[in-house]
Amino acid sequence: MAKDPRPFSSKLEVPEALTFDDVLLRPKESRVEPDDADTATRVSTNVELNVPVLSAAMDTVTEAELAIEMARLGGIGVLHRNMTVEETAEQVERVKRADELVIRDVVTASPGQTVREVDEMMGREGVSGAPVVDEDGTVLGIISGTDIRPYLEVSDRDEVRDAMTSEVITAPEGVTAREALELMYEHKIERVPIVDEDERLVGLVTMQGILARREYDAAARDEEGALRVGVAVGPFEADRAQAADEADADVLFIDCAHAHNRNVVDSARTIKEEVDADVVVGNVGTREAAEAVVDFADGVKVGIGPGSICTTRVVTGAGMPQITAVSEVADVAGPEGVPVIADGGIRYSGDAIKAVAAGADAVMLGSYFAGTKEAPGRVITMNGKRYKQYRGMGSVGAMQSGGGDRYLKEEQEDEEFVPEGVEAATPYKGPLESELHQLVGGMQSGMGYVGAATIPEFKQRSEFVRVSSAGQTEGHPHDVVITDEAPNYKPNE
Ligand code: 5GP
Repeated sequence: MAKDPRPFSSKLEVPEALTFDDVLLRPKESRVEPDDADTATRVSTNVELNVPVLSAAMDTVTEAELAIEMARLGGIGVLHRNMTVEETAEQVERVKRADELVIRDVVTASPGQTVREVDEMMGREGVSGAPVVDEDGTVLGIISGTDIRPYLEVSDRDEVRDAMTSEVITAPEGVTAREALELMYEHKIERVPIVDEDERLVGLVTMQGILARREYDAAARDEEGALRVGVAVGPFEADRAQAADEADADVLFIDCAHAHNRNVVDSARTIKEEVDADVVVGNVGTREAAEAVVDFADGVKVGIGPGSICTTRVVTGAGMPQITAVSEVADVAGPEGVPVIADGGIRYSGDAIKAVAAGADAVMLGSYFAGTKEAPGRVITMNGKRYKQYRGMGSVGAMQSGGGDRYLKEEQEDEEFVPEGVEAATPYKGPLESELHQLVGGMQSGMGYVGAATIPEFKQRSEFVRVSSAGQTEGHPHDVVITDEAPNYKPNE
């Protein structure tokens, strides 16, 4: 038979792009026990973490409550931006205040207040004691719940000066947790006011605060000891960037579905010049996009369409399978020393560690955390099973409550949005701690199979093999009926 004389179109000579299921880590000789694998990493120029995991900036995933828990456990939460600029600042402050050794914003009482007023105030503020200060802030005493119980024959109309304990044990600025704790044991007290040279109040250390900090030895903390937090900022939201920076956010994430856009890059560069916080730019998915931002960004976030609730690839026809996207970006950012974050599409711990092998320094997850107790929203029950809502930030619902500028869409009153995400429900999973434990434990086991004791070593030593579809099937449980759910595996639906 005669050959077709027409050449194939050069348009069809296309490179192949791979994602998580297309590859596996090649096992290697190892001396590394999984528990000894060190997962410490960097998410941005100045921010190091013990756990290489970020929670997604989505309104069904990360608000202050989840961000606090993420940082306590060694990762970092990125606050979403479907809220006002003032709310962003408040949420950052909530995280920063959560486990602080020295509380700065102290609830105080004045000597002339009545016991009843102070009792009500302490109830309102959620504290069980307050330093008593005069107009200059000089500490005169301390009043706590035990000073004002009726059995002490204190009337609620008495003045605080008559009910307070006036021999106050104070400590100077710079006191360590250990010193404060010793004072508390010695004097059988639960709080120590911190004072300057003139005995004026500058802060407060509480027993509760010290114990909370001790529990979290891997926590992500800033130089002052406060928990770290990230904030999503729209590419043109200079005001939110400013407010988050002033509230001491550690990392700003320029939050755009397609950051390889000249206006977005220019605006991100300006934001970077105006803030103290690190600025991570995303999302990108190609080598060229990485080249456009590595000269100024403190980190690059990768993911064009891999997300579980995302419809970008089917709606727009554009996207980049995630393993290829991460490795292209890492080829450019790695040599420049700019951390790479793989964002979206991670279903299992194995996916997360594959992303690191492809060149990521850390991974960001949405659906994995959306069902946890600390994520926003309440638990709903359907057919006897518990769920939480999970929706794409490009879904109609999320865009209606926040605008569509992540997708570079203008808000138009009389026009429908063209969404790039869906609204869904995800099984309720309970506390974040056990989910994160499974994720990081699985990643450490992956490091063990490759024989790498640290993330940088793992990135160097790991190699991929390509998997056929038969190989993929072989990799999941097969020919059995699962009788008990494993905590880290759900079958593909
Ligand atoms: P997941 O971990 O659920 O697979 O993916 C979470 C990531 O998906 C987010 O961090 C974000 O980058 C991306 N994302 C969130 N909402 C949407 C959306 O509506 N559309 C698209 N294209 N991506 C989304």
